Amino acid sequence: MNDHPGAIVIVGAGQAALQAASSLREQGHAGALRIIGDEAGLPYSRPPLSKAWLAGMSDVDDLRLEEADWFAAVNVDLLAGERVVSIDRAARRLELASGTALGYDHLILATGARNRVSPFARAPLEGVVSLRTLADAVALKARLSVARRLVVIGAGFLGLEVASIAAACGCDVHVVESLERAMKRALSATMSAYVTARLERAGVRFTFDARVAQLRGAAGRVEALELVDGTLLPADLVLVATGVEPNCELGLECRLPVFNGFVVDARLRSADPAISAIGDCAAFPYGFDGGDLIRLESVQNAVDQARHVARTVFGASSCYDTTPIFWSELAGERLQIAGVARRLDGSVVRGDPRSGSFSVFRYRHDRLTGVESFNCPADHMLARRMLQRRVSPTREQAADSSCDLKALLAAQMA
Ligand SMILES: Cc1cc2nc3c(=O)[nH]c(=O)nc-3n(C[C@H](O)[C@H](O)[C@H](O)COP(=O)(O)OP(=O)(O)OC[C@H]3O[C@@H](n4cnc5c(N)ncnc54)[C@H](O)[C@@H]3O)c2cc1C
Repeated sequence: MNDHPGAIVIVGAGQAALQAASSLREQGHAGALRIIGDEAGLPYSRPPLSKAWLAGMSDVDDLRLEEADWFAAVNVDLLAGERVVSIDRAARRLELASGTALGYDHLILATGARNRVSPFARAPLEGVVSLRTLADAVALKARLSVARRLVVIGAGFLGLEVASIAAACGCDVHVVESLERAMKRALSATMSAYVTARLERAGVRFTFDARVAQLRGAAGRVEALELVDGTLLPADLVLVATGVEPNCELGLECRLPVFNGFVVDARLRSADPAISAIGDCAAFPYGFDGGDLIRLESVQNAVDQARHVARTVFGASSCYDTTPIFWSELAGERLQIAGVARRLDGSVVRGDPRSGSFSVFRYRHDRLTGVESFNCPADHMLARRMLQRRVSPTREQAADSSCDLKALLAAQMA
């Protein structure tokens, strides 16, 4: 890339795209800057769709990432409701579904992810929904206001957030999960058990190791979910929350490497130096893990990668190396995660889970690789700094609440 990147086009108009546009202007990009997104309307923030907004505590207007006049003020051309259907890499040109062709000097792919379609939800039944977009959220909110029995398929973050809000609204809520515990891929067994118990106290019921046989309906409406063991869970609303897959079909035809996302290097560039990828759609080398490719689904990742790519477009050669963080709100309380849980061999608990405020420090060999904190923002902040600076307290130090981790960090940094 060069000092004068010329016309930059960003595909996707979500969190990553907006931040990239904003950061590019801050970096002094004076050339044309265009965002093309296939959703209608102004770009919005997704996390509140399963939290404050769904709970009726905020307005649609509060979701907007930027107001309409921002685009004019920073001279960013937003093409909303337009889908990019192909990339001609040799000619550096995009083709839109409307038939328009658009040139670029540098292309940033920020196409995000979409919900995985469950095999049980393929035949359309009224009352079977998923949640990714604002349109999905509007439909879910309307249904929740009249639903009496909600079954959630999938005990991941999104499913549990919706379950906890629905239970608070008086709905009878049952979560079914194919694995043996909630959020198994992201959380330690200790935190997973704590979250499950917390939600059970809030009225949510769980079935783990559950295999869904089919959705049963009558007159086109869902009536129950049937498990393989014959259990019938009555439902007038079913939320399918079985995870997402990246939107990276654009790479296939133009032969950009795709492996669970657009494959990029540590500068977030694809195999084609004129194309970068960021956010939920990017598979990047995770420096903390010696460069294994990972793909993350979080606002922090989208925003930080967008900032990074804005710098590299202007020639910076630094590698993207930021500690991943994630948060969730469950039954009105806050779960925060720093780092990525992979190939772990143990964890220790700091604080007392019975107090409702504690952390789990997770290790591979003797190295701290992730920290989960429930209602413990101070531990979370400290953990982020320790992970960022590759400082590991011993397991004994982490488990000892009287051990001053802040002082330990300062000493190791000195
Ligand atoms: C309900 C919900 C709750 C969440 N809660 C949290 C949370 O608490 N904390 C957290 O960190 N993260 C959370 N996330 C995840 C977070 O929202 C995502 O990680 C973040 O939005 C990723 O931003 P992105 O710009 O990469 O992708 P997206 O926000 O998915 O934006 C990509 C956009 O590109 C569009 N697009 C795709 N292909 C094309 C194409 N060919 N042409 C034009 N446009 C295209 C898509 O339709 C989409 O609008 C949540 C997500 C959801 C859905």
